[in-house]
Amino acid sequence: MPRDLSGADALLRDVFGYDAFRPGQGEIVDAVANGADVLAIMPTGGGKSLCFQLPALMRPGLTVVISPLIALMRDQVRGLREAGVAAGALTSGNTPEENDAVFDALHAGDLKLLYLAPERLASGGTARLLAQSDVHLIAVDEAHCVSQWGHDFRPDYLRIGALRRELDVPVAAFTATADEETRAEIIERLFPGTAPQVFLRGFDRPNIHLAFAPKDSPRKQILTYAAARKGQSGIVYCGTRAKTETLAQALRAEGHAARAYHGGMEAEDRRAVETAFAQEDGLIVVATVAFGMGVDKPDIRWVAHADLPKSIEAYYQEIGRAGRDGGPAETLTLYGADDIRLRRAQIDEGLASAERRGADHGRLNALLGLAEAQSCRRATLLGYFGETLEAPCGHCDLCDRPPETFDGTEAVRKALSAALRTGEHFGAGHLIDILRGNDTDKVRQRRHDQLPTFGVGKDLSQSQWQGVFRQIMGFDLMRPDPERHGALVMTDRALPILKGQEAIRLRRDVVDRRAVRAQPKA
Ligand code: ADP
Ligand code: ZN
Repeated sequence: MPRDLSGADALLRDVFGYDAFRPGQGEIVDAVANGADVLAIMPTGGGKSLCFQLPALMRPGLTVVISPLIALMRDQVRGLREAGVAAGALTSGNTPEENDAVFDALHAGDLKLLYLAPERLASGGTARLLAQSDVHLIAVDEAHCVSQWGHDFRPDYLRIGALRRELDVPVAAFTATADEETRAEIIERLFPGTAPQVFLRGFDRPNIHLAFAPKDSPRKQILTYAAARKGQSGIVYCGTRAKTETLAQALRAEGHAARAYHGGMEAEDRRAVETAFAQEDGLIVVATVAFGMGVDKPDIRWVAHADLPKSIEAYYQEIGRAGRDGGPAETLTLYGADDIRLRRAQIDEGLASAERRGADHGRLNALLGLAEAQSCRRATLLGYFGETLEAPCGHCDLCDRPPETFDGTEAVRKALSAALRTGEHFGAGHLIDILRGNDTDKVRQRRHDQLPTFGVGKDLSQSQWQGVFRQIMGFDLMRPDPERHGALVMTDRALPILKGQEAIRLRRDVVDRRAVRAQPKA
């Protein structure tokens, strides 16, 4: 049965501003929200805090969070408050006024999350305070601090077991330390007499082959990919509703069984596609991200992205629908400069706060970094979630065929210089015309043939320059400015390259674009 996480999904989006759970988070949130005792082991940076913050909003009353790191607590409280969540902290770093404000909120029953430094547990006052508050969950961050095995032992953590007994509420404990002795000791001390649900899972899905390709003629690329997998169940994710329809049509014209799926369809029609996909063999569903929640078909053999996903989390979740049965599965993600422009514009035009927009750009950069990676894609992907791979995986496009790279420093500097000398008012197309010395109307009107950069990039072909500009955007050296019709504007990251302090290696694109360019530009 598909789990009902619609409440959690809405909170994830509306309160935290994320579009997908990271690996592991969904199941943990589910268990904690349902009141289970939980011990979750996740790598640092994997996103543990969300696993108690979100359930705290789903459970009634107050959640107490024990954490040893004052700076981190303050950070989280600030973040939660900015997101509109009533949170407070009692730490030794508080001013008396801050303490009073927290006590007042507690007495009024207004708090959803209360962060506590472990030394607070030693005071009888705190115990009374908590007994009078409507506590429904204790979350323990850095739970290995309860263990003498580790080097972070905090004697005050030993009081958590008693607190749990007194309040008689579930405990959700989190740590990045996975060794067995520590785990056993955490369970013994935090959950005496009970067996918590333990979440310890690597994020790797080794049966899924990973591949990205620069967009070239996307429809043809998808058709070729599907043709090589005829008769297998697959999903094609598209960025727009219209594209799901046209691409499904094109696939049917090539003899595939293919259906479109998007949020604009009648519920009944969507259900019909879901049922057909579950029951029929070899159906291709061409869908927007609306297709996902209810899909638990184990034998999806491939997932292709006709457009770049929204974030690295969304990417992981979407490709993760393939090969649930453990059998071989393949994925392909297409991406191009247009995707980057579109995703940047979506972030910039959104209503989110400046801080959140900045974080969204950062997450997009992570996905683009994965797209432009120069060595093992799986290592890059898992690294982003905090997990390290011992050796290159041998099961991704970059392991199969290491990309040819070249010293792109000179090319990037020429591109930056072309943009700067034209006041950062132009997009890649015109800048390439300048670099290649193309004689176009726009070049002549603007007298850009007089620029010192005019024609300095003849050594690279038109399509090679397109690859350079895509990677410039992928590495976030220049960003399209939505206020200037997508004109490329240099970012601070480009400075060291411009100043000659840093070199950069670029990939030579493997796709042969000549095959699809119907009319080569003059
Ligand atoms: P940990 O405590 O496991 O080291 P954090 O909880 O501090 O990790 O999260 C690490 C980073 O991941 C934070 O910047 C957080 O904003 C981000 N993050 C967590 N969950 C998600 C998600 N579902 N989607 C995108 N980013 C996330
Ligand atoms: Zn690999």
